Amino acid sequence: LRTPVLVTGGAGYIGSHAVLALRDAGWPVAVVDDLSTGFRAAVAKDVPFYEGDIADGELLARIFVEQEIGAIMHFAGSIVVPESVADPLRYYGNNTAKSRALIAAAVAHGIGHFIFSSTAAVYGAPDHSPVDEETPAAPINPYGRSKLMTEQMLADTAAAHEINYGVLRYFNVAGADPQGRAGQSTAGATHLIKVACEAATGRRDGVAIFGTDYETPDGTGVRDYIHVSDLVAAHVLLLERLIAEPEASLTMNCGYGRGFSVSEVLDAVERVAGTEIARRTEARRAGDPGELVSDPSRIRSTLPWEPRNDDLDTIVRHALEWERMRTD
Ligand code: UDP
Repeated sequence: LRTPVLVTGGAGYIGSHAVLALRDAGWPVAVVDDLSTGFRAAVAKDVPFYEGDIADGELLARIFVEQEIGAIMHFAGSIVVPESVADPLRYYGNNTAKSRALIAAAVAHGIGHFIFSSTAAVYGAPDHSPVDEETPAAPINPYGRSKLMTEQMLADTAAAHEINYGVLRYFNVAGADPQGRAGQSTAGATHLIKVACEAATGRRDGVAIFGTDYETPDGTGVRDYIHVSDLVAAHVLLLERLIAEPEASLTMNCGYGRGFSVSEVLDAVERVAGTEIARRTEARRAGDPGELVSDPSRIRSTLPWEPRNDDLDTIVRHALEWERMRTD
């Protein structure tokens, strides 16, 4: 029953945690990663590792056969909103065109199940909060559009071919493996908790708050921060579900359903780190909505998902522990 799973982007932040979660649950795993932002050392030595491009059909064909792959978890992609505004074609290339090639290879080789890392950015700047999956997708930046197009390709493909899919729309993923086996090593990271932890450990000079004039309680952006280990646990449960019900595909938010502002996050990092972080105010960042919080009703009623780290200080503590272990 536990078919081998190909994890794309398995050397990256979320992918490396997914590899741990799958192996912890007894699934055979292989990784494909081009190491553009990931690290070879993020993947255990005994996991079959293929360095290369997810759009390389010959490479994929070889992996599918050699590893007897039956399912794909697709994490490889670009994830920085402002970068997508500055360089949209890179996002449509990395996230949309390469996903198309991967999906095509999956169909050609009869891979039965496909789980895709999507994003709350598909909702754009919704006029209500929290957002459920019935909220019409209306992305406001190329990143969100590049991911939404992949969702749409999957839906059309599953309607026409013998494959089912699970889409998880991630809210703000943060933290690190509680056992310290993995964390976020991304160079030049831009995500708030990572940036704040770098500042707290002296690797960075304070934190810029991008916008203090949002329509939120304290004027700074509000997000639903989810612990990476809870996020990847949802993927493993979703995979079991896709295999048990091959006719059904699912699209679900993956968040806890509560929001914290930038100021609250910085307070938490200061509290956990026991140090002050210099804060400066800057203009809003291009493409940033004011508030994005998940309505998690669907995932909670569909999967037996029991988050273990639904606590901002726990997320920050694990992120900080990883940051302090860095030797580079
Ligand atoms: N943010 C900030 N300073 C930073 C990084 C992020 O004020 O150095 C804010 C950002 O404007 C947003 C929230 O923190 O309101 C989360 O941004 P992040 O880049 O972590 O994730 P996103 O929601 O853009 O995917």
